[in-house]
Amino acid sequence: MLPDDTALATVRIAIAGMVYLILDALMVFLIRNWVVTLLLIQGQLAVTVYLILRFRRSGFLMATCLNGLALIRQIYLVRTGGSIGGLNARMAMTFYIDAILAGSLLAFYAMRNAGNYDDALKKKELITKAYYQASVSEEQLWKKNQELEKSNKIITDDREQMYRLAYIDPLTQLPNRRKFQIDLDQIAASFGVSGRPFALAFIDFDNFKSVNDTLGHHAGDELIRYTGFLLSKLKNTGDSLGHIGGDEFVLIIRQKMTREEIRTYIDYIGKMVRRPVRLGEATVSVSASFGISFFPEDTDHVPELMRFADMAMYQAKKSGKNQIRLFQKSMNDQLVRETRIIQGLKGAIGRNELFLVFQPQFFVESGGLRGFETLIRWKSAEFGMVSPGSFIPLAERNGMIVQIGKWVMRTACKVFKQVQVQYGFLGRLAVNVSPVQLMDPGFIDDVKQILKETAFDPNCLELEITETSLSNSVSVVMQKMDMLRELGIVIALDDFGTGYSSLSFLQQMPIDLVKIDKSFIDKINQDMKSNQFVSSILMIVRQLNIPSLAEGVENEWQRDFLRLKKCDIIQGFLYGRPVTASGVLRLLQPPDGGSAQQMTGVSKK
Ligand code: C2E
Ligand code: CA
Ligand code: CA
Repeated sequence: MLPDDTALATVRIAIAGMVYLILDALMVFLIRNWVVTLLLIQGQLAVTVYLILRFRRSGFLMATCLNGLALIRQIYLVRTGGSIGGLNARMAMTFYIDAILAGSLLAFYAMRNAGNYDDALKKKELITKAYYQASVSEEQLWKKNQELEKSNKIITDDREQMYRLAYIDPLTQLPNRRKFQIDLDQIAASFGVSGRPFALAFIDFDNFKSVNDTLGHHAGDELIRYTGFLLSKLKNTGDSLGHIGGDEFVLIIRQKMTREEIRTYIDYIGKMVRRPVRLGEATVSVSASFGISFFPEDTDHVPELMRFADMAMYQAKKSGKNQIRLFQKSMNDQLVRETRIIQGLKGAIGRNELFLVFQPQFFVESGGLRGFETLIRWKSAEFGMVSPGSFIPLAERNGMIVQIGKWVMRTACKVFKQVQVQYGFLGRLAVNVSPVQLMDPGFIDDVKQILKETAFDPNCLELEITETSLSNSVSVVMQKMDMLRELGIVIALDDFGTGYSSLSFLQQMPIDLVKIDKSFIDKINQDMKSNQFVSSILMIVRQLNIPSLAEGVENEWQRDFLRLKKCDIIQGFLYGRPVTASGVLRLLQPPDGGSAQQMTGVSKK
């Protein structure tokens, strides 16, 4: 019986008891017919049986109480010689004894079975409970399942998101460096099975920085995004494209093509990339340099393949940008040599292998000595004389130029301090400053420190910065130039005409001297166009009221042309090659022992 039924059972037992007592009362007070009495007693017996069978232990207890009471009454009646319901008391008693005996017997069997019954009941209860729970849990299960499905979707979405974060470049939606690397490894690994060679192309914008600087990073991003889209449209099906950072893209060319066909394919891509693009208000056209390496022809080692393509791309940049270069073994040899040169350069200052030479500059009109440009030399025990043209770019690339540049400035100031003291020389001492050095955060402090240390007059110091310096953050460069000028230092713009800086820079920048690059001077009197170009520059510079210097003047025609076009200063082998410090002293000390050549500095703008 379930606990909820206990109250109901009590009520039923009570009702059965009442029926029993009513039957008894009928016999005692109403009925005088022994047949009816017998029937009533049968009724009481039926109640007894009902109680025992239906309610077992508690039923038996109740039935025994009722029958016991009736028995006691019967005993009393027997003793007093009374009767009940027209029935002899003794006779009636036998019925009650019968009832008690039968009831006990019944109870005995009922109890025996009760165990089984209880078990069954318990089992039933358990089954009911289990069933109930099962039905509940089925619902829960369904809910759980739904939740699971939901979280599963979240996990899948997350996984996708994580995949995107790990492998997809957010700007272009192309595979990033990591993913590209994995793809490349896989393609290379499959070569063993497929036997299909492939090529790897590195694509890098030329002067991308200028887009960022002039139009802002947003425009730069837009250009990258657009190019990613363009490249993915232009590439052949089956080729894999990746954006591995900054303005660098990579392409795995898997279509079977000859080297020449690949060159044509890339050439076409280059042409399309160069086409003008509208970025906000502005329309820009940016070229790119391409480097290609071949698997397994150049190497079957993936990292090397990447390095080779990069090397070829670097070579394309070095030879004037906007070009395609296929990797050649000599490039690698060159890299090995370059690495050795860098190694050698590291100890060059300590081994006293570096020294300075100074090239004189002369006023065109007066012919007087204007000053000297400091040029570095490296006499290496291992490589012999190494030209600055080859080691300076390497030093710039690995940052060593900062240390070397400081050494040059300090040494030059020391030498010229002595020259100033000994000869009263008040001309300019020009020192080249690499763009890397200029951008170094400690640059201005270094200059101050050197001036203090050497007691060199800053008004005599001229720093030559190249046009490439201007491709760095213009505001930072301007600020540094202003700080230098506040110290009294003169700024010269070196290699003018070779960079991409426009004439408008000349107006904005605090520049005290423009040095026209040797390449233009070389062409003087060779063709009309070059003559025109040089005279135009000279005219504009004069209009801006900036003095001009022509570099690399080697012959009289050049000098005469420059004089005619009113160039202010000349520097070149025609007038003087670079000389060592003692050469400078000789130059300042005329052979007759008289006074040093008379000089005057270029006045500031
Ligand atoms: P640059 O600053 O344009 O220096 C002028 C170069 O032209 C020097 O070459 C000089 O020797 C050479 N030159 C001058 N007149 C003539 C001429 O009439 N004919 C010919 N054929 N050449 C002439 P150099 O010394 O080999 O230097 C090459 C470059 O290396 C320099 O070009 C400069 O960019 C860099 N450099 C040299 N010394 C330093 C330095 O101390 N620091 C930095 N950052 N760069 C330096
Ligand atoms: Ca120079
Ligand atoms: Ca120059």
